[in-house]
Amino acid sequence: MILTVKSYMTSASHPTPSNFIRTIIDKDLASGRYAKKRWAGRPGPAAIQNKAPVDHAKIRTRFPPEPNGYLHIGHAKSICLNFGLAEEYQGACHLRFDDTNPETEEQEYVDAIIDMVKWLGFDWKDGDNENLYFASDYFDDMYQFAEALVKAGYAYVDEQTPDEIRDTRGTLTEKGINSPWRNRPTEESLQRLREMKAGKHPNGSMCLRAKIDMGSPNINMRDPVIYRIRHASHHRTGDQWCIYPMYSWAHPVEDAMEMITHSLCTLEFEDQRPFYNWTLDKLKELGFFTDPLPQQIEFARLYLTYVVTSKRRLRQLVEGGYVDGWDDPRLPTLSGLRRRGYTASSIRLFCDRIGISKADSRIEYSVLEQALRDDLDPSAPRSVAVLDPIKLIITNLDEGYEEACVAPINPHDDSAGQRHFPFTRELWIERDDFREEPERRYFRLYPGNKVRLKYAYIVKCTGFKKDEAGNITEVYAEYLPDTKSGTPGASSVRVRGTITWVSVKHATAAEVRLYDRLFTDPNPDIGDKDFISLINPNSMQVRQAWLEPGLKATPGAYWQFERLGYFVADCELSTPEKPVLNRATTLRDTWVKK
Ligand code: ATP
Ligand code: MG
Repeated sequence: MILTVKSYMTSASHPTPSNFIRTIIDKDLASGRYAKKRWAGRPGPAAIQNKAPVDHAKIRTRFPPEPNGYLHIGHAKSICLNFGLAEEYQGACHLRFDDTNPETEEQEYVDAIIDMVKWLGFDWKDGDNENLYFASDYFDDMYQFAEALVKAGYAYVDEQTPDEIRDTRGTLTEKGINSPWRNRPTEESLQRLREMKAGKHPNGSMCLRAKIDMGSPNINMRDPVIYRIRHASHHRTGDQWCIYPMYSWAHPVEDAMEMITHSLCTLEFEDQRPFYNWTLDKLKELGFFTDPLPQQIEFARLYLTYVVTSKRRLRQLVEGGYVDGWDDPRLPTLSGLRRRGYTASSIRLFCDRIGISKADSRIEYSVLEQALRDDLDPSAPRSVAVLDPIKLIITNLDEGYEEACVAPINPHDDSAGQRHFPFTRELWIERDDFREEPERRYFRLYPGNKVRLKYAYIVKCTGFKKDEAGNITEVYAEYLPDTKSGTPGASSVRVRGTITWVSVKHATAAEVRLYDRLFTDPNPDIGDKDFISLINPNSMQVRQAWLEPGLKATPGAYWQFERLGYFVADCELSTPEKPVLNRATTLRDTWVKK
């Protein structure tokens, strides 16, 4: 199912719709489920938390990225949800790096993620608590829990090869087969686990598994792996560890250490919930955690049409050179969207509008664009640009003629003031605003026709010039005195077309980048499609354009260019002397109809 912009058009005027997660939280708060929960001001097991005062935060949520890539628009949904709920319910939201996978994680990603969550406008500080955590800080505790599970008979060291473990796991219809090591003596497992930790065994030679049920209908409960051997350097713990916990076991432990109340994750983790609860129940039984334990709640991932939102696929695009880095303005990474001209508030508005549900759906890309338009329209300064210029010569004006024209900086906001620019003999207009021979219902310039030059005069087209190749190089017109906009004569002549222009002598040159969909297919990542082959070869056009004089293209500055869309000065490439502008979005939806 693809959800289109129309389903969201009216949501701007409505308060944020509620969702099933709010319903759960409301119920929990009403029942007092978390009323006595404690918080020591730092993560830790029951030994630390139980002595602490009652937590002032009514709920605790967390955003738990793995620092193995850059954040994308899907992460924004999770960020807005987790931080948003914490704000709404006088709770706290932790930023936690789920860094249990040494091979793929780097400090560079940690920094970039922090930067982006801040940019979106969220903060993890809560009084004196910084609430910025790393799963790797819990490695000592986690290992202690693992030993306790072994001692209690809830886990064992399996010496089958990874292939054997896979082959004996069973299928959806067939039960798994018990490992020959499953019932080995506890002492033996413990000794092996200690040897694993001490680096005595190579990668893949053995692992620690939960002892649950190889006959469970849920494959995730068939003795899942808890710890594996990885002789690899970790970006924070260095070479201190050569065994690392598996995500599905580490995650509930991290949540419980941080006294998280509502652990919100995406739907693919639904089948992991029994193991999440198993882990917490066993560790509670062993005295490491106490009630109320965190609860896992799943919601639907965000999918957008015409883009991919998975780090793996984004990486392929970047490393394959199909785009120009992680912040390429065509990518749905947050750094790409920011560079493209998306504001943080437009992304938050988008996340509000799409809401939260239990059913996977794909959101029309135009919903994102509409959120940007709605965000920028009230504030964006207006200006004029000509992207595909052709010269219009006003033959009844002198060479040196200059007359000031005025226009509002923002028609919705008088206090923004006015802009001034000169009307002269030679103007740049859009090539598309002229026809040698007009088609039906073409109301702009063609020989004999009159149009209004916006904020200036009505002109009548008198002719044009072609070069030897047959390309039109100049268009000629005469202006009609007494028809200037804002004067009493302005309405004396009726015209059906209005076009924008800039004075050749005064215009500012700029490079302008126009973007189209990155993929030709609305669902490039569904099934086993070769998404690389679906890349749109024309997803970026570079134009040498002319801008209204006086425009200051400092990086990050944005405008609505009349008729053309919202543009931003590229934060990497633009300088006031050599402006480089990105079109963030057109003024109207051009995606659905194409
Ligand atoms: P990817 O598949 O892109 O690598 P991930 O889920 O592995 O995504 P994490 O860094 O583990 O990436 O994600 C951090 C949080 O963001 C998780 O809680 C995850 O559920 C959430 N998240 C990731 N992608 C989306 C998405 N498309 N929609 C909503 N939430 C998402
Ligand atoms: Mg992940």
